[in-house]
Amino acid sequence: MTVNLLDFDQPKLAGFFAELGEKPFRAKQLLRWMHHFGENDFAQMTDIAKTLREKLAQAAVIAPPQIKLEQISDDGTRKWLIDVGANNGVETVFIPEADRGTLCVSSQVGCALECTFCSTGRQGFNRNLTVAEIIGQLWIANKVLGRDPKGERILSNVVMMGMGEPLANFDNVVTALNIMLDDSAYGLSRRRVTVSTSGLVPAMDRLREECPVALAVSLHAPNDTLRDEIVPINKKYPLKELMAACRRYLEKAPRDFITFEYVMLDSVNDGVEHAQQLLQLVRDVPCKFNLIPFNPFPNSGYGTSHADNIRRFRDILMHAGYVVTTRKTRGDDIDAACGQLAGKVQDKTRRSVKRIMELSV
Ligand code: SAH
Ligand code: SF4
Repeated sequence: MTVNLLDFDQPKLAGFFAELGEKPFRAKQLLRWMHHFGENDFAQMTDIAKTLREKLAQAAVIAPPQIKLEQISDDGTRKWLIDVGANNGVETVFIPEADRGTLCVSSQVGCALECTFCSTGRQGFNRNLTVAEIIGQLWIANKVLGRDPKGERILSNVVMMGMGEPLANFDNVVTALNIMLDDSAYGLSRRRVTVSTSGLVPAMDRLREECPVALAVSLHAPNDTLRDEIVPINKKYPLKELMAACRRYLEKAPRDFITFEYVMLDSVNDGVEHAQQLLQLVRDVPCKFNLIPFNPFPNSGYGTSHADNIRRFRDILMHAGYVVTTRKTRGDDIDAACGQLAGKVQDKTRRSVKRIMELSV
């Protein structure tokens, strides 16, 4: 079978060249062509001998995913719908800001974790994205966005906050992270690449060892009773274990804080008592907070917290000395906000069957 070289980080490419009887330094050369220059035609790789280019073209392809749709918001936010076959799509969003350009990257088609307020979770799980499909999102964005007048890339930061749970697709996500960080490819600093997780504790430990990058944890509730309900993975990895995993992560993290994400759900988790419990919960974990006003979707059953309640919640955290950001809604006109990255996913989990089985046990 023909291999797709976008699936390989530097060690894997070196292995591929070794099999062809070529020197390992070719891996760096190829990474530069593919990711630094965005080239996917071997014929254009002029510093590689013609015979080797021909050999490569026989053995491999450089096949980025296809764009199904591109939308550009009035505020400059861009959204791409990426074709992942079988009539499914995942979404990638670029958010320009004064001092940086952030790409929000998807890791799975759907998600199996079923957080109750998340439209991706409601769609169920279809499959993991391949490395080429994950890194292909950067490939496409860079191709479209290019560089600023100073020659710097417009895309400067990555957050794994699109569709799916990145740590549930661990190997592919880590290989893609390696390519993001590799100086021959995208050369992003570890501090500018953030993985967001709903709290898969063992995978957080592995990430710390194998590829420590900035970490965001989707907390959303300050006690186990409420978190069990809205982030069901909490039943497996409850808050005490999650907080301990956060502390362990910080021993090797490139940043000295965890970002806790907290979706603001009207009358569910946005009260004064919730803010106070939250302060108790995180007291041993250096952290910042990112409050996310809930993005409604049809039949979600939730409402967005009132602006006054979000401010009140924020002020309690700020008065206790924490840095708190409240996520602005960007790209509203193109549904580019988190939890809206719906794509169209065919659920392969057969959840109704699963549920019935659970009920009958
Ligand atoms: N699976 C990972 C990353 C993807 S979701 C995680 O859960 O962290 C990125 C963020 O958007 C998470 O904090 C998630 O809880 C939040 N989110 C999901 N649905 C949302 C919605 N409808 N409104 C606001 N935030 C939402
Ligand atoms: Fe999955 Fe994250 Fe959505 Fe939860 S919030 S269902 S973990 S994508």
